[in-house]
Amino acid sequence: MKRDKTTMPQYLTKVLEQAQDLGPGLYRAMVFHDRTCAIWRGGICDCKPEVKIVPIQDGGSDGQR
Ligand SMILES: [Zn+2]
Repeated sequence: MKRDKTTMPQYLTKVLEQAQDLGPGLYRAMVFHDRTCAIWRGGICDCKPEVKIVPIQDGGSDGQR
């Protein structure tokens, strides 16, 4: 698999840009597409989605019970 930037959807570039500001750790990228976006029809994203990166909590063993 190639990692060619030119073949990436636009929003993925946005995700990577935001990810550069983050510290080490696990994060999840959440992408909110428009209802009219082609991605819902199995196509390539053609909207300008809202991108949010949220940290994933990986502790879980303390303070949960
Ligand atoms: Zn989209």
